[in-house]
Amino acid sequence: MIELKHLNKEFKAADGGTLHAVRDVSLTVNDGEVFGIIGFSGAGKSTLVRCINLLERPTSGEVVVNGQNLMDLRPKQLRAARKKIGMIFQQFNLLEQRSVLANVRYPMDIDGVPRAEGDQKALQLLETVGLAEKAKAYPAQLSGGQKQRVAIARALASDPDIILCDEATSALDPEATRSVLDLLKSLNQRLNVTIVVITHEMKVVEQVCDRVAVMADGSVQEQGAVREVFLHP
Ligand code: ADP
Ligand code: ADP
Repeated sequence: MIELKHLNKEFKAADGGTLHAVRDVSLTVNDGEVFGIIGFSGAGKSTLVRCINLLERPTSGEVVVNGQNLMDLRPKQLRAARKKIGMIFQQFNLLEQRSVLANVRYPMDIDGVPRAEGDQKALQLLETVGLAEKAKAYPAQLSGGQKQRVAIARALASDPDIILCDEATSALDPEATRSVLDLLKSLNQRLNVTIVVITHEMKVVEQVCDRVAVMADGSVQEQGAVREVFLHP
């Protein structure tokens, strides 16, 4: 479970003033849920979600993940907590010089997992995302949808409870978008992974999300079941 309590994030603006990217946001994402955060560019979605794994450190407020207040943790405990939070990005962030298999193995390499064991698990994860036959390929040889599947396999390498998706389908065509969203939904259902999806596209929310928060100007304007928030009679 993710609990954000009165979260604020301020940046120093270029003119020396303060840019309030996230304003007093409180929300709860339940275990096993697919939770959407929708809003226009600049609304603060990315900053908010980067606070969930402390890629951004909130200016104030609390980030409680699985009962632990992340801001209270020592570096070692924080590293352990972060392993349970995978993340995927619009631009995939794959290592171009490494094969698909080595990309998926990468977090395990960092963790000191023996290579043979890492290879075996990486291959299993590629099977999970339907790309085992591309294990030896390089990212440049893949379509956008395939690259995102590899990024999802890599995110699964540390057995996360939560996957954060920052505009994960925004660089993809409609067909690839559908297949990536179907994959996320099936991981949610099969592995019970909690998924947070940032998007500016309504159809993404409609296709996969259980609940949604609408962000504008750093604040959550409305949140609730997708049906309640968007399909007013
Ligand atoms: P969204 O994801 O909804 O497009 P962002 O969270 O990326 O919104 O950005 C919210 C606001 O915070 C924007 O005005 C953006 O320019 C600003 N912002 C984001 N990151 C930084 C940063 N590292 N330094 C300064 N301003 C930032
Ligand atoms: P998005 O809108 O897709 O969230 P951006 O292109 O706005 O992404 O931001 C990409 C990166 O640049 C992020 O790491 C964000 O924190 C940073 N960033 C965004 N706006 C600013 C800004 N005004 N000053 C410094 N860094 C920024």
